[in-house]
Amino acid sequence: MKYITRFAPSPTGNPHVGNIRTALFDYLAAKATKGSFLLRIEDTDRERFVPEAVDYIHQSLSWLGLKSDGEAVYQSARLKIYQDKVQELLDKDLAYKCFCSKERLDSLRLELEKTGKPPMYDRCCLALSDDDLVKKEKAKEPFVVRFKIPESPVEISWKDKVRGTVTIPTKVLEDFIILKSDSWPTYNLAHIIDDHEMGINLVIRGEEFVPSTPKYILIYQAFGWDHPEYAHMPLTLGKDHKKLSKRHGDTSILDYKEKGYLPEAMINFLVFLGWNPGEGSTKEIYSLSELKQIFNINDVNKAPAIFDLERLDWMNGLYIRNLSPLELTDRLVLFNQDYKKIDRAFLERLVIVEQSRLKTLAEFKEISQAYFSLPEYDKNMLVFKKSNHKDTKKGIEATLEKLSNNEWETIENFEELLGHIVHDNELTNADVFWPVRVALSGKDKSPSPAELLWVLGKEESVRRLEKAIKIL
Ligand code: GLU
Repeated sequence: MKYITRFAPSPTGNPHVGNIRTALFDYLAAKATKGSFLLRIEDTDRERFVPEAVDYIHQSLSWLGLKSDGEAVYQSARLKIYQDKVQELLDKDLAYKCFCSKERLDSLRLELEKTGKPPMYDRCCLALSDDDLVKKEKAKEPFVVRFKIPESPVEISWKDKVRGTVTIPTKVLEDFIILKSDSWPTYNLAHIIDDHEMGINLVIRGEEFVPSTPKYILIYQAFGWDHPEYAHMPLTLGKDHKKLSKRHGDTSILDYKEKGYLPEAMINFLVFLGWNPGEGSTKEIYSLSELKQIFNINDVNKAPAIFDLERLDWMNGLYIRNLSPLELTDRLVLFNQDYKKIDRAFLERLVIVEQSRLKTLAEFKEISQAYFSLPEYDKNMLVFKKSNHKDTKKGIEATLEKLSNNEWETIENFEELLGHIVHDNELTNADVFWPVRVALSGKDKSPSPAELLWVLGKEESVRRLEKAIKIL
């Protein structure tokens, strides 16, 4: 079966991790079956509409490489179509106008709640006589249109791709609103007409839509259409198994871009929020193109997915290490235009020695800053515990002396050089390797002294070593 799927975000803010996970599953389910992945902007809720959100949606998808097939569909451009369909339901007596005021509905709700009954609309307006209806229409009383839940069927069942067969009795369903008083349709109606017209045959969305899916199936039946297959995604929870919050990393997907996560790491991380490659497989690293081959929506698990930020960091670090230093340099320059101003050869050397420590592209800023200004450190740090003041000084002086004659080509050259300095001066590694490293980096954890010499180059290395001697 070729799946035609759609990502149907409401432009009410910046797409979050959960939204984009759905988009990814939509994309993969379509691509793995040689189908199509469509984009629909559900912009009928004018009160919650945020104009920039449309741009955020496009940017999020494009960052991750989730290209939709064809142009995006905007619901706001299709008003007339929805209104005509509502009229069709009214004409067939499958829907009715409701003139109840907000006050009446509020007090009805309170009343029902008091008596322990479900807060459902009492069909007051279904009982309006034709005369009353005409009067109200003439007086231009504001109204909404409600879908009339039919007597039969008494229950609705569907085979959900994630949760198996779901059955819900129709008596728990209220006559829900399909057209608002401003003549704009609700999600309840608009998405069905669009899914039908766009040929969507698999709807992937959050599990919060499970209870209302029977309503939607009834609308399909009212129009005489087949409903698509459904896959309702599991919740995503924080590591403490509580609802995902900002603290757990439930921020917009573009925040992750800004923090320097690689899109391919993000995809790899997101796909495991609910999906896994099937029993027995321990493979954790998947590229988008690999996923496009093997993804199966039936492998999505209904148990809540756990969002683990540490795992994302680990994965991002792994993807960073798997890039060639040249690729990583290019990515860094794209990430932060300031790096363009750095001498490219110097930047590449820096990337080579720092790559293994990097977990995000953003971290590079702080790491690289140490290379641009003379380090500040406590002079006691220069003397390792297995060394002493005299030998440390001797070690640095000998290094300074030999440096000018050394080849500046490779890191190995410097390793050899430092080895010789230890040997020729009857010193220990603690008298040479440690203080040279501290003198060059100002830190007790950093790349090796040979790497630092190679990155910094002659002039800067000499300057830093001379400073260390002065301090000692
Ligand atoms: N606009 C809805 C939302 O963002 C779409 C749900 C669906 O995929 O049907 O929640």
